[in-house]
Amino acid sequence: MSMNNLLQSENFSLRQQLEALLYEARQNEDKMQRFDQLERRLIGAASLLELVRLLLAEYKLAFGLEFVTLALVDREHEATRILQSGLGNDAASVCSGLTLLQSADALEILYGETRRPVLGAFSEQQHQALFNPPFDGIASVALLPLARQGELIGSMHFGSTSRDRYVAGCGTDFLERLSEIIAICLESALARERLKLAGLTDALTGVQNRRYFEHRCQVEVSQARRYRHPLACMFLDIDKFKRINDSHGHQTGDDVLRTVANLIQSQLRAGDTIARYGGEEFVVLLPQSELHHSRLIAERIRGRIAEQELQAHSGQAIRVTISIGLSMLPVDVMSGENQQQAEQLIAAADKALYQAKHGGRNRVVCDASPVHDSAPISFRGSRLRPFSAWARRLLQAASKVAINLLKRLKRA
Ligand code: GH3
Ligand code: MG
Ligand code: MG
Repeated sequence: MSMNNLLQSENFSLRQQLEALLYEARQNEDKMQRFDQLERRLIGAASLLELVRLLLAEYKLAFGLEFVTLALVDREHEATRILQSGLGNDAASVCSGLTLLQSADALEILYGETRRPVLGAFSEQQHQALFNPPFDGIASVALLPLARQGELIGSMHFGSTSRDRYVAGCGTDFLERLSEIIAICLESALARERLKLAGLTDALTGVQNRRYFEHRCQVEVSQARRYRHPLACMFLDIDKFKRINDSHGHQTGDDVLRTVANLIQSQLRAGDTIARYGGEEFVVLLPQSELHHSRLIAERIRGRIAEQELQAHSGQAIRVTISIGLSMLPVDVMSGENQQQAEQLIAAADKALYQAKHGGRNRVVCDASPVHDSAPISFRGSRLRPFSAWARRLLQAASKVAINLLKRLKRA
């Protein structure tokens, strides 16, 4: 080979190498950009639910992956509760691919001491359990340990139908960085959810607090007015509660508050709201509940509490009773702000409660302002049927006809 030819062939080979390097660099840059975009979205996730959704769905799309699953260590069932409260019954479908683990034991075995991402061929025996629901056709996997402060908090699993996608011994810089970001995002989403819950929950009884209730009440009032649904509000106050504290101590008093909150809750439906309004006072909202039905629920709560035998710290058996004031959002009030309507609804229930206390306690009293309801209502013992304006007009017209008829009969 002449010198010239030698140089030409070397030149060709160098150019090929350069092109290959450039191609890899471009690919990495593209991958980096997609990573960067995904990272921004993970960091910006507004809730744990959104984060989980991003991890399970967006990663697949951004990186053309067939299978993505996530496992979270959830010892106290905290994540379970948070996700359920955000989703209700949709939890199963939206979080398909998410597994909540009782402990980190299985992950400790999977990642060992090093806690580095695991790349390689799919092994049914080792990896099938990580891909839930089970998928067919996984050829290679990348498993990412999610750790914070030295503890495994979860694990992310990518599965590809291509054998060459994840090869043991390949560089894992991208994946290591991603697993760190995901772990940080999960930790901070959980912390934020905890804060949200703490700010709106009563620490002693575990039910919602007054701040939550006042917000909720406006939302329910607005819904009830828009769809012309009935809305009931109850104000509940434990009778002579001071005596419980005085004779059995504050700790027993606290236990009574917890038990009463649980007993009230046990009589409510999923969409109802219960909150501790303050001290020994609770409030309840019953959306889409007519007066006669709401009264029935109130009676049930009152009866359930009165029949329950409680135990003081001394071991002594005690009983408590509760008084309840009930009010309904007027159906045909169109004017006024929702906030004002909500305040009036609560005030009316409070006024009825005051009457229940004065009437002798351990009873339910309905607010006597006119409410359009077709069912018989008992107002403090007497049973009467409220007439709406048109019914009254109908009655007047009917009596006019009857009088005319009588006059004619007399004349005849
Ligand atoms: P009434 O039947 O008129 O409602 O009488 P009452 O004794 O229940 O009402 P009062 O308002 O006089 O007393 C309420 C008591 O509730 C006084 C307060 O010490 C007690 N209390 C308020 N918050 C708590 C709490 O968190 N724990 C305990 N143990 N007691 C509380
Ligand atoms: Mg009170
Ligand atoms: Mg009281």
